[in-house]
Amino acid sequence: MSASSVPFGPSPAFTPDKPASAVPREAGFDSARQKALLARYSGQLPRYTSYPTAVQFTEATGSATLAGWLEDLAPGASFSLYFHVPFCDELCSFCACNTSVVRHEERRLAYGRQLLEEVARVGQLTGPGHPVTHLHWGGGTPTSLPAESLRAVMAAARTQWPLTPDAEVSIELDPRNVPPGCGALLAELGFNRVSLGVQDIDPEVQKAAGRIQSRAQTEACIAEMRGAGIASVNIDLIYGLPRQTTESVTRTAHSIAALRPDRLAVFGYAHVPWKEKRQKLIDENLLPDSDARFEQREAIDRVLREAGYVVVGLDHYALPSDSMARALEDGTLRRNFQGYTTDDSDILVGLGASAISAFPQGLTQNAVSAAAYRRALTGEDGVERTGGLPTWRGVTRRGQDRLRAAVIEQLMTFLQVDLAAQCRRFNAEEDFAAERAALAPMVADGLVTLEGDVVRVPEEARLFVRNVAAVFDQHLRRDGVARHSSAV
Ligand code: SF4
Repeated sequence: MSASSVPFGPSPAFTPDKPASAVPREAGFDSARQKALLARYSGQLPRYTSYPTAVQFTEATGSATLAGWLEDLAPGASFSLYFHVPFCDELCSFCACNTSVVRHEERRLAYGRQLLEEVARVGQLTGPGHPVTHLHWGGGTPTSLPAESLRAVMAAARTQWPLTPDAEVSIELDPRNVPPGCGALLAELGFNRVSLGVQDIDPEVQKAAGRIQSRAQTEACIAEMRGAGIASVNIDLIYGLPRQTTESVTRTAHSIAALRPDRLAVFGYAHVPWKEKRQKLIDENLLPDSDARFEQREAIDRVLREAGYVVVGLDHYALPSDSMARALEDGTLRRNFQGYTTDDSDILVGLGASAISAFPQGLTQNAVSAAAYRRALTGEDGVERTGGLPTWRGVTRRGQDRLRAAVIEQLMTFLQVDLAAQCRRFNAEEDFAAERAALAPMVADGLVTLEGDVVRVPEEARLFVRNVAAVFDQHLRRDGVARHSSAV
């Protein structure tokens, strides 16, 4: 499980501020101080995988806007592709993804045909000759789609938009449900990276979180992919799940690090049962409190650093040899709906239910559920859509949105930003006086430093980077805090 991928930012040559490279762990805040900071800063904040964030999406930015952006692509402009599959083979209680189990093969085949139709419609608008640098399948569980559908969509996409020779082609997998011959199929289709959901290996935690997965299943999945020549593996872990303790997540981190995935993403569990009914199955009494969550995160962080992983941004880890660690080092790392990425394209075209597309001009999202997506594509919902695109809503960047998107992305990615450099990049005159004033209490708390125009989040305050980024979020200031996930 993971979110879809959306790079954003300006199209001119991107010159990031000097990145904070892999920093060894320094002594953090002492325990009393840490608790005080948690109490003060653990509100709900966006994850800033885009700016403006999805809560700003409205139907005012819809298919007509997206069609215009697609038609206006410069000849030969490259972009990235994202395909979303909203189906799983079984559901996990903790998961907030919009996904369902669809047993009837015909319905899954029909979804494959709908993706093919969307490829054709988008292709009409982009025209040919646009190389694709990154292609990702997410969900849900993309391999719940029949092999013939995966084959057909990949073939159609590659005919329409050829992959560059060094393109990253990746897919999310559920190690509990790997179809027979999956490794060989994915290798045949050109995949070179897989992302596995694991979350936690402790049987008691798995039971409480509603996802039972043996270590043997995870090992077998990795072995099959590596055996098929798909060498690059990402694993997702979660802390803050019911029944997790510092000791249990430490064991999980050791066990998973021993498998040597190239990358790991370590997320905090977001308990949002008012949004995601499935989470009502989670016993809230078993959830760790914010102090315990912090300690769990710190414990995983310690294990992964000691195992030789480089910390990337807020919640990713990479082997030093991995392209993500290199992108951090050379300042080309980006942040998008997938989290951190080496995808430096400014344009992402998302296809499938709920998929998000991103352009320098803004973002759009397709109809969310599989049924709504089908109705939007077929026109059964009675809405007239330009180009037949199944777009639901979006946001057009206005005013300082692009400048602030870049400032926030720099902070979230490199933990620092040179405000003056970003203003020069966007020809903007902005002294950020209100933001400097708003940062003052955080400076006093040791969460950030402000030297001239350079805002820097020190290593020990890495976990609070969202709080610092939020200071530059004009929409959040205007609208107040919507229901986002916990900042810590
Ligand atoms: S397999 Fe589980 S965690 Fe992954 S998307 Fe499906 S329900 Fe969510």
